[in-house]
Amino acid sequence: MTKKQPIPLYRYFPLQFANGNVVKRFAKPCLKCGEWVELPHMYGVVKQQAERAFLSANAECPKCAHKFAVDCMITSEKLVVKMHLPHAFMLWYLLRTTPTPPAISAASQQAVAQASLKPVAMSEVELAVDQLGQYQGKPIPAAVSYKGEWYDFERVAMKQERALAKEELWLDAGLIFKKRG
Ligand SMILES: [Zn+2]
Repeated sequence: MTKKQPIPLYRYFPLQFANGNVVKRFAKPCLKCGEWVELPHMYGVVKQQAERAFLSANAECPKCAHKFAVDCMITSEKLVVKMHLPHAFMLWYLLRTTPTPPAISAASQQAVAQASLKPVAMSEVELAVDQLGQYQGKPIPAAVSYKGEWYDFERVAMKQERALAKEELWLDAGLIFKKRG
């Protein structure tokens, strides 16, 4: 058996959990400059289970070239939990126990690679008139329109949250909206 190597992480995405949640995007801030480092700049492995996924990767910041390790668990509720295990062990173990994902088409690889996790600015969306309340002194709109699609308010973004489902829109005000379907 040949030794498996870390591969571009987007080969493992989107992650689909048993509860129906899908995680399409994943990113970590660079430990040195703070730039968001997204899937195309990570090489590693993701072991997917029904309720959680274990991720271990080597990331390289596209801005400052700083290299760092990413070891975490993504829950089916889309929370990202840091794993406190030695990186070399986690990478080795996951590579050893995880099948390589089937190759996907170049087009869908590109779509995943280009999906950005940066929040959308409030100024880029049209706000619905209805307000649900206030968050950090700003109104929470019941719905927003972005690029011709309506999104309904879903929840307040959590600080550690860096994984979004496909139909979700993250506003820089710290609010997450879900595409009306
Ligand atoms: Zn950097």
